[in-house]
Amino acid sequence: MKQVTVLGSTGTIGRKTLAVIKANPERYGVFALAANTNLELLEQQCRLFKPQYAVLRDKSSALELATRLSDLTTTVFGGEDSLCDVASHTEVDIVMAAIVGAAGLKPTLEAVRGGKRVLLANKEALVMSGTLFISEVNRCQATLLPIDSEHNAIYQCLANGSKEYSSGVQRLILTGSGGPFLRLDASNMASVTPEEACAHPNWKMGRKISVDSATMLNKGLELLEAKLLFEVPASTIDIMIHPESIVHSMIEYKDGSIIAHLGNPDMRIPIAHGLAWPERISSSVSALDLSAKDLHFEDPDYAKFPCLAIAREIAEEPQSHFIALNAANEIAVELFLKELISFIDIPIIIQEVLEKTKAEEVNTIEAVLELDRKARELALERISQIT
Ligand code: NDP
Repeated sequence: MKQVTVLGSTGTIGRKTLAVIKANPERYGVFALAANTNLELLEQQCRLFKPQYAVLRDKSSALELATRLSDLTTTVFGGEDSLCDVASHTEVDIVMAAIVGAAGLKPTLEAVRGGKRVLLANKEALVMSGTLFISEVNRCQATLLPIDSEHNAIYQCLANGSKEYSSGVQRLILTGSGGPFLRLDASNMASVTPEEACAHPNWKMGRKISVDSATMLNKGLELLEAKLLFEVPASTIDIMIHPESIVHSMIEYKDGSIIAHLGNPDMRIPIAHGLAWPERISSSVSALDLSAKDLHFEDPDYAKFPCLAIAREIAEEPQSHFIALNAANEIAVELFLKELISFIDIPIIIQEVLEKTKAEEVNTIEAVLELDRKARELALERISQIT
């Protein structure tokens, strides 16, 4: 039986991961569950899955959880170091990296350094640390499996990531639904609310990634993620709007063949793939009824979605710009969700932080974290002028 640590177990991806584990109890045991502050849900999850460890980053919430779980054998810890400990523990086989944002970098990296099978949902961790992250995967012989549905699709189209199959690849085609504002007139973007931005037509996701989908920076982050994961130039990665979210991505070979991955839009599919690879298990997702679907494809509108244009522009630039883009976006999205800035301020803030960040390669994780901190400061300074 494989032992699994779920980082971000109370989030959308974390809950879907536990649903797949619950449907396959003979194959997976839960070693540790970890979250930020949500002790109510973490308590319920601990009662159901009885992990050896439960971790909350917030230490006072962890103390409260420990009191509530005193009748179980689960040991509760608090703080960031404990997130890292349960990600790299010798008894763990698989780590689901599903903390949202830069906060997931350190524990995800510790899972990599522990040589684990790492199921990467937390795209921000990879985007900000770039080739440093990939070098650590190789050095520590970790197994990195993409969970983002597009990258998981490409991985599967490459016959489970095999280098042999990737030799004739001409183009990666990342598909995206276009988010809730695909058909909204650009002149109405200034007044959209957080609730409207979070109402994704096809996917039920956490609030940060939902806003990223609405600005289409999510697709921009995915472009950077694909470049790093599959080690291809960004110029060979196309983005295609596909409102139905049935084709999760495609690859085009030199001979004109295009291989696509299809499925219902449900994250349990890539999660089940990552957990069982190279075998297959049930995800409990219903079969796709192709006769009930019309599939459409169109080019993205870079003028209407400037966040996507910015990500495309910096895709061949040095790592410091990936860090700045991610950090500025995290701050801008957080403040948009608190209704302190408007939706159209998000790309403005990202652009200005990028302009103030020197384009340079970054050689250590400490330098990554320092640049992340500086970019957040720059974003907050700019926002204080707006508010
Ligand atoms: P959610 O907001 O739903 O969940 C985030 C999780 O991270 C929660 O468990 C939260 O804990 C935890 N968390 C937040 N901050 C910290 C912290 N500082 N320390 C420890 N834990 C923390 O996000 P999603 O599940 O939607 O997304 C998670 C990641 O997966 C993101 O990187 C996203 O881009 C990626 N992803 C998500 C997809 C989706 O369909 N949802 C699809 C593809 C990728 P708490 O509940 O206590 O706050």
